Amino acid sequence: MSHNHSIHNLLNIKDQNIIFDENFCTDETVKGIQSKVFHGTLTYQPEACYVCGHAFDAQIIKHGFKTSVIKMPSISGFHTYLKLRKQRYFCKHCHSTFTLKTNVVAKNCCISNNTKVAIALQAKEKISEKDIAKHHNVSHSTVNRIIDSFYEYYKPNYNYLPKHLCFDEFKSVKSAAGAMSFIFCDSETGKIVDIVEDRRLHVLKDYFLRYSKQARHSVQTIVIDMYSPYISLIQDIFPKARIIIDKFHIFQLFSRALNKTRIKVMNQNKKHYNKFKKYWKLLLKDRTKINYTTYQYHRCFKKLMREIDIIDYLLDLDPELKASYELYHTMRYCMKTKDFNLLKKALSNQQKNVSSYMKTAIKTINKYINYIENTFNYDYNNGVLEGINNKIKVIKRIAFGYRCFFHFKNRILITQNLTAIKKA
Ligand SMILES: [Zn+2]
Repeated sequence: MSHNHSIHNLLNIKDQNIIFDENFCTDETVKGIQSKVFHGTLTYQPEACYVCGHAFDAQIIKHGFKTSVIKMPSISGFHTYLKLRKQRYFCKHCHSTFTLKTNVVAKNCCISNNTKVAIALQAKEKISEKDIAKHHNVSHSTVNRIIDSFYEYYKPNYNYLPKHLCFDEFKSVKSAAGAMSFIFCDSETGKIVDIVEDRRLHVLKDYFLRYSKQARHSVQTIVIDMYSPYISLIQDIFPKARIIIDKFHIFQLFSRALNKTRIKVMNQNKKHYNKFKKYWKLLLKDRTKINYTTYQYHRCFKKLMREIDIIDYLLDLDPELKASYELYHTMRYCMKTKDFNLLKKALSNQQKNVSSYMKTAIKTINKYINYIENTFNYDYNNGVLEGINNKIKVIKRIAFGYRCFFHFKNRILITQNLTAIKKA
C-alpha cells in the first residue's frame, strides 16, 4: 500500500486526484493551537472549461495553484487541517481562469464535508452544541448552521393525524412565547407528531385549525392530563374524539393526597414521627404485594413484625389516615380490575372520613369523571411520552438552556429521528 493510499484512508478522502507530498504531515501552530497539517495537491485534467464549457484541448493550460486550508475531522485529539494546493487552469477560448473542484470540500468553504457530516450525525446524540463545536474546532453558530442545512425543516402533514393521540407539555426555553410548550404524539407508536411553542388555548386552537377537517375528524381518542383547557379545545376541534384522562395522572393525584395526609399526621404525632417517616413506602405499596408471612426485626418497634403489622399499626393511630388509605387502595384496585362503577361508588361513599387532601382529590376526579370512564375502557396512556420528555430534559440541561425555541425544537426532532438528513 502506497503512503498516498494510506493517507486517503486515514483522512477518509475518496478523491483519488489528491496526491500527498513526501512530507505529507507536519506539526504546525494554527491560530495558536498545535495542529496536524496534511499537505496535498489536487490535480487532474478537466473534461472541459468550467466557465465556457469548451472541451479540453491544448488551449486550456495549467495556470498555477490556489492553496486552501480545510478543516478535517480531528486525529488523535489534534485539530487537523488539509493544506490543499488546487490546480488552476487558464482557458484561452474564453480568457478565464478556474480552479479544480473536489468533493472533499464545498466551493468557498473551509470546512470539509466529512467534518460537516460528523457534526450533523453528532447532533442526534445527547451532547450540547457548544461541545460539538469545540470537538470539531468550529464556532457554535457554524454548528447551528450545519444542523439547519443538513436536516430537512420539519413540517407535519396537515392532511393527516393518527387515530389515537396523546397530549402533554413540558417546561420550555426562556425565549418561548409560553412558559409551557406543547407536544403531542401517536399513542400507538409513540412517534411525535409535532411540538408547539405555547400550550395556551388560543395558540393551540389556531395551530390545530391548520389541519384539514378530515384529519381532525379522524381522531378517535386523545389522552390528556387534567388540564381543563384541553377539554374545550378537543370538543371544538376534534368533535369525534373521546377524551381519556391519563391513568398515571389519576394515580399521582391520589398518591400525593395520601402522602400529604401521612405528613400531616406525622407532624402532629411527634411520638411516632420516625415510624411515619420511615415506612411511607409501605402505605403506597400494592395490597397484593404486602408480606403477610415473614417476620423481620424493626428497630423503630424493637421487635419482629410483618409488613402488614406495621401498616395496621400506623393506620390505627389516625382514623383520617386510615380512611384515606382505604380509598387510595380501592382506587388502585378499581384501576387494575377496570371496574369503573366500583370507583364511582367508592368516591361517593367514603367522602366524610377522609383527609382534606383526599377530599380535594375527589373533587378534581369528579370534575373529570366522564372522561375517567374512558381511562377504564381504553389502554392508551401518556407512558409513551415519558421517554421523550426525559430526553427533552437532558437536551435542555446539556445546552444550558436553549435561547432559541426553533433550534431547541429542531434538536428534539433530530434526536427522535424525525427529521431526515437532506439528500444531496
Ligand atoms: Zn473557457
